[in-house]
Amino acid sequence: MAQLSDDCFAFGGPMMSVDEAVGLIATRVTPVVDVETVTLARADGRILAHDILAPLPLPPFTNSAVDGYAVSSRDLPQQQEQAFPVIGRVQAGSSVSAPLKPGQAMRIFTGAPMPEGADTVFMQEDVRVEGDKVVLPAGLKPGANVRPAGEDIPAGFAALTAGQRLRPQDVALAAAFGLTQLDVVRRIRVAVFSTGNELASPGEARAAAQLFDSNRYMLMAMLARLGCEVSDLGILRDDRAALARALQDVAGTHDLILTTGGVSTGEEDHVKASVESVGRLVLWRMAIKPGRPVAMGIIGGTPFIGLPGNPVASFVTFVHVVRPTILALSGAMPEKLLPMPVRAAFTYKKKIARREYVRVSLRKAADGALEAVKFPREGAGLLSSLIDTDGLVELGEQMALVEPGQTVGFLSYASLM
Ligand code: AMP
Ligand code: MG
Repeated sequence: MAQLSDDCFAFGGPMMSVDEAVGLIATRVTPVVDVETVTLARADGRILAHDILAPLPLPPFTNSAVDGYAVSSRDLPQQQEQAFPVIGRVQAGSSVSAPLKPGQAMRIFTGAPMPEGADTVFMQEDVRVEGDKVVLPAGLKPGANVRPAGEDIPAGFAALTAGQRLRPQDVALAAAFGLTQLDVVRRIRVAVFSTGNELASPGEARAAAQLFDSNRYMLMAMLARLGCEVSDLGILRDDRAALARALQDVAGTHDLILTTGGVSTGEEDHVKASVESVGRLVLWRMAIKPGRPVAMGIIGGTPFIGLPGNPVASFVTFVHVVRPTILALSGAMPEKLLPMPVRAAFTYKKKIARREYVRVSLRKAADGALEAVKFPREGAGLLSSLIDTDGLVELGEQMALVEPGQTVGFLSYASLM
């Protein structure tokens, strides 16, 4: 499992910016080095372990881009159309042995290899067939409608890079190289707990003063989207000793321990003290809203993250603390969140020196521009605010006021996971 030195998350300042937190995580978390081999059918979403150099050029051979007639560019009609004898036919998947002689044309189909002596193809829509001849118009450029070997990717090119998260198109590239399997970083193992006496698991009886635990399912779903192997460890009660035991139990067998709730500084917030009793903990006061303090620490060499209990705070801090930690643990290239410019259709005042995230829906304005409409309420406990919106508008530390018409940065929920 990932090993961390005891003081690796220590931070001196009074308030940590989101960028400082992400930077600390990226530099202090040691990646897991275990590699496993998966078939292409199972490779999507995994982190590639080694660079892949193109073992062959793509396309592997020069071929026709259209259905038509292949000729030599030396023979191209210059001023007026000209008839060529059609001496053969080559379709995709076959090849012809006889080379094309000067003045001859060959019937060819999309994807068929170019016959020797030919380097240009007339589209069938542009020609006229007369008996066993084809009449070709003047004015075609040499090399037209041909896909040269290697025009897509030359042999030896570093086509896929270690640390990249494989997408369907990357899997396609591996297949185009003839590969059947890929070496990927093994899945990051995450232990997930909820904490709080007020929580009941769905499926259990719920006492009058209890609510069903929703965060654990949200966090597990987010972790699954990041490719993690998740251990669902249920709900821990607000009991320091029991918490400490449970956390210690999973430290050796997981790469990350994640909890939600109990990280504030109330008397019934026991996560901080329980982590301190079995490991080391720093409470990060992150300059982010929504999101109260986030706890980070180490238990028996395993990183620990304690997220706040309010669902929206938990969601937003997951994106900025857990996600970069998972990426760092899997040796993945940092995946930058790039907010898209949209037009604000709301007024919003914020505190300077704090990054804030506003839940918004997008709509198309009369002039075609995308407009962000703010969810009418702001509570960090409102699940409906995450359900009825499309994403978050990111307001930088230096901003104090957003006014209608202003350009702001939008992060879709899909882009965050
Ligand atoms: P805490 O951070 O423990 O003080 O919790 C803050 C608020 O979030 C409280 O109203 C909790 O009831 C609520 N909360 C804590 N954990 C969860 C959870 N797993 N699912 C839903 N709500 C929660
Ligand atoms: Mg609590």
